[in-house]
Amino acid sequence: MGSPSAYSLRALETARQCVMLGARLRTIAHITGLTPGYILRAVYCERYPAPIGRPQYSEDFFFKTTRRLQAEACFLATHYRRLTSEGFRQADALIAAFRHHRATQPESTLGFDQAFFLISRLDGIWAATKSGLSFVECLNCRSPYLAPHGMPQRDSCPVCRTDWRLKSRARARVRTSTPPALAADPPKPKRSRQDVPWQLDLDIAHVRLLGRLQQLGAGDRICAVLAEEPRAQLFRAPRGRPTVTSAYISRPMPLAAWSAKTEVTHRVQYAVFASHFRRLVRLDVTPTEAMCSAFETARRACRDYPKPVTFDRCFEVAALLDAIWGVPAQQLELLQCASCGSHYLVSKAEPHPVGCPFCMLIQRHRTLLPTMAA
Ligand SMILES: [Zn+2]
Ligand SMILES: [Zn+2]
Repeated sequence: MGSPSAYSLRALETARQCVMLGARLRTIAHITGLTPGYILRAVYCERYPAPIGRPQYSEDFFFKTTRRLQAEACFLATHYRRLTSEGFRQADALIAAFRHHRATQPESTLGFDQAFFLISRLDGIWAATKSGLSFVECLNCRSPYLAPHGMPQRDSCPVCRTDWRLKSRARARVRTSTPPALAADPPKPKRSRQDVPWQLDLDIAHVRLLGRLQQLGAGDRICAVLAEEPRAQLFRAPRGRPTVTSAYISRPMPLAAWSAKTEVTHRVQYAVFASHFRRLVRLDVTPTEAMCSAFETARRACRDYPKPVTFDRCFEVAALLDAIWGVPAQQLELLQCASCGSHYLVSKAEPHPVGCPFCMLIQRHRTLLPTMAA
């Protein structure tokens, strides 16, 4: 483990939220399942450095703290419970409840690690092996509050026993010293270092790209090449089998008789793809982004075609058209048809290419596209 592509997008994005709320390493590891090594390397950064000190996980923190903090923690737990009963995942509910708490109690000293531990004890998850807290309804103010299992102390509701008009000692301390919750707050980034990329953001973009490629049907090796994964450097051509791109997929397209051996509807789809790909690359879009976007466009434009072309073949077409991804020289080119005006592909290695596939499609659409003719 430790490679970003092994982690889910959800784990990385959850870690991103946690670190921005001042979470300590163990808290992030518990919530996301990311390894400590990865968290230190990629999640903490110059803007969000690792907070100093051990996480404030304490069984009796909740019962030894001020009543006001107890009441605030009860509100947070109640909010959390509402969200989980609406179907929120536990991690998302904790993050949303803590954000709500920060917004409504900006001077509170309740830290994210403390909220995390409280919720762990409430639901018997993450840092807790079993649940030790449950909600009890106050007979006086009707607020739900937290009490240890089996000990419903109905007269110890922190909510109605807190004088909300007074500044708590904890609140007063905020003014003189930095409370733990705020100590974890990120310092403002230094201007000169603003362009240092956050490894976590790069990893999130990477995992997002892999998800998109898989959704488009890209093969494993082509994913690795497009996502610039280090393992793609190790790909080698299979012995004795013809290959072209740096993904080294065997059975390349027959370039010496490309138009003769490629179906007309496939040539149309490759041409639609290649025209979009070329236009996007000229607009300075990265080849990978252009590849995904042009493939999506071609697939939409040709969605009723009986035999859709694959992502991997379009990757090969793009590589041969622009001499990229391991192809040393351009081998396909886009020509404009003199009679219909469409752009179509021809192989430079084919001496007498068959004509424009769009013109052939217009003449023979009843047989080539039977579903559309119907
Ligand atoms: Zn009460
Ligand atoms: Zn034509």
